[in-house]
Amino acid sequence: MSEDTLFSKIIRREIPADIVYEDELCLAFRDITPQAPTHILVIPKQPIPKLADAQPEDKMILGHLLFTVSEIARQENLDNGYRVVINTGEEGGQTVFHLHLHLLGGRALGWPPG
Ligand code: 5GP
Repeated sequence: MSEDTLFSKIIRREIPADIVYEDELCLAFRDITPQAPTHILVIPKQPIPKLADAQPEDKMILGHLLFTVSEIARQENLDNGYRVVINTGEEGGQTVFHLHLHLLGGRALGWPPG
């Protein structure tokens, strides 16, 4: 069983969030501390703590999350480009252990990341 995080509380509407997209498999909402003019988190409703925990049966949801990011980017008019980030584990900079894809855009993004 994965731990209940604040993202599960957002799914259950126990914590407010600025939700931009929802379907039966995933939810997308604006990051509370945006690192770019557009900063959206896309999460599976069925929690996976981190990418490293993904199992073969999760391949469909992983593809769905990535495709959903591309649709939201279109919806947000990020026509000049954007970045998709998955922080994974402690050294990957992950702080909330419910898998999430960061969609960042609306400004030129530097590389390499810190
Ligand atoms: P991580 O560091 O795990 O990759 O990303 C977690 C993200 O969740 C951070 O960018 C952080 O700003 C965001 N976050 C943390 N708490 C909340 C919250 O209560 N609401 C929203 N919308 N975002 C949050």
